[in-house]
Amino acid sequence: MKLMFLGAPGAGKGTQAEIVSEKYNIPTISTGALLREAMAKGTELGKSAKSYIDAGNLVPDSVVIGIIEHRLKEDDCKDGFILDGFPRTVPQAQALDAMGVNMDLVISIEVPDEKIVTRMGGRRLCKKCGSTYHILYNPSETEGKCDKCDGELYTRADDVPEVVKERLHVYHDQTEPLKDYYASKGKLVTVEGQEQVADTTALTLAAIEKFRG
Ligand code: AMP
Repeated sequence: MKLMFLGAPGAGKGTQAEIVSEKYNIPTISTGALLREAMAKGTELGKSAKSYIDAGNLVPDSVVIGIIEHRLKEDDCKDGFILDGFPRTVPQAQALDAMGVNMDLVISIEVPDEKIVTRMGGRRLCKKCGSTYHILYNPSETEGKCDKCDGELYTRADDVPEVVKERLHVYHDQTEPLKDYYASKGKLVTVEGQEQVADTTALTLAAIEKFRG
């Protein structure tokens, strides 16, 4: 199964992708996570991506398309995968088509902008494994520590309000048109993001099961 999550930054794509990934045993591929990993390692890719990410802008299409092309060739993608945060522009979606990758289902998680801005301050990530948490809606069992690997939790530099506003602007301008792109191919379903993660998960899994018939 090849699934894609669309949605504004902070809508809960990453959290849902992690849950669905465990349930169906298919990997999640997040370009944001791959870029953060490169930044943490200080690679050339990481260094060149940092200025875009810190400003809330998109990393150039050619860079992320290259990352995805490489990643999808790995063995664990053979039986399907979940795309989280890619594509983010129409040219990226076209590049995916050109690679011969046909998505089965595209799930757009809808959350109004006002809610996103207030939510983002509570978001936390694991330094070691990249798992995502929220201090109110999806807290870790021990404060500041990852449930999965005991890594330290941190707040992303691009989750501060000014950058979040820019990321939302970029989302509406460049990424939201992908909803029409996939709707016209009959692949799009929308899920209203709920306050509690488990409620959004129930809607997400229902959409996936409906597709699987
Ligand atoms: P995310 O973790 O998905 O919120 O991504 C964090 C940041 O990484 C974004 O704000 C962009 O700067 C960059 N990024 C991630 N995925 C892409 C993509 N598909 N195209 C361009 N930039 C991306």
